[in-house]
Amino acid sequence: MAVLSRCSRAVTAATTPNAAAAKFSYLIRALSPFSSSSSSSSTFDADNGLNSRIKPAVLGTLNREPKDRNVQWVFLGCPGVGKGTYASRLSDLLGIPHIATGDLVRDELASSGPLSSQLKEIVNQGKLVSDEIIIDLLSKRLEAGEAKGESGFILDGFPRTVRQAEILEGVTDIDLVINLKLREEALLAKCLGRRICSECGGNYNVACIDIKAENGKPGMYMAPLPPPPQCASKLITRADDTEEVVKQRLRIYQAMTLPVEDYYRSRGKLLEFDLPGGVRESWPKLLHALNLEDEEHKQSAAA
Ligand code: AMP
Repeated sequence: MAVLSRCSRAVTAATTPNAAAAKFSYLIRALSPFSSSSSSSSTFDADNGLNSRIKPAVLGTLNREPKDRNVQWVFLGCPGVGKGTYASRLSDLLGIPHIATGDLVRDELASSGPLSSQLKEIVNQGKLVSDEIIIDLLSKRLEAGEAKGESGFILDGFPRTVRQAEILEGVTDIDLVINLKLREEALLAKCLGRRICSECGGNYNVACIDIKAENGKPGMYMAPLPPPPQCASKLITRADDTEEVVKQRLRIYQAMTLPVEDYYRSRGKLLEFDLPGGVRESWPKLLHALNLEDEEHKQSAAA
């Protein structure tokens, strides 16, 4: 209850971004070490999966040394698109924390704390948790990270509403928003095929997606993403990855989160990336779009 009442006081006061900035002082402290780059746009011409003519200006800074990079990024995209997979790979590559609000919610849910049963009901119906609760969980995570000396972040699953985006914008500058896109036919199958290692949290997929070319539309093949042997016996399925709940989550994305794409698009921060297939095919193209290189991937691909 104490958590709930503190949150509701904070978010009641945070009806405008400025009020939010004053209230979430811990969020501001955690988010402030990096300054933002300009949000101006330029023409983009690489053949790498991008469908936008806008190239966020921050991409020009990515070939700098890690310490000089701006990395305050957000991943957007429908449930099942692969935000967790690519955010976690980028997190490993850049040494920047990957913070998935869905993971924070699931941790809270598993903790049997005061919010646990309330969250279980909301999440298992595919609905969104209130802004109050989600911002409280995120603030605590950022605060804990700050105490450990973390800087920068790759957010996955936040913001999911325009109000969340406004609150975030009120306390820090997001450099880049990567909007992952995947053909609708593949999204449901990807969610239903998702498996999580109950021990390490690794994300895998048993679905083999093979969409045939039709009516001038190209086919698409996405190989399964199998777990390594040490995770194979520990796989679990998320309670909200059932067909009914995934369909509800997709509807909620359209209604509540699609406007967030517009919010960032109009600010010149949105990098739209059409996933051309599975991880093997998409990862190098995403890196190319981000002006990044992954030596380890290059070596394993060449082997
Ligand atoms: P995800 O793992 O991102 O699919 O999130 C799982 C569930 O956690 C969502 O269906 C929501 O119920 C909740 N959740 C995660 N992030 C947010 C957010 N930013 N706002 C509201 N609810 C969220």
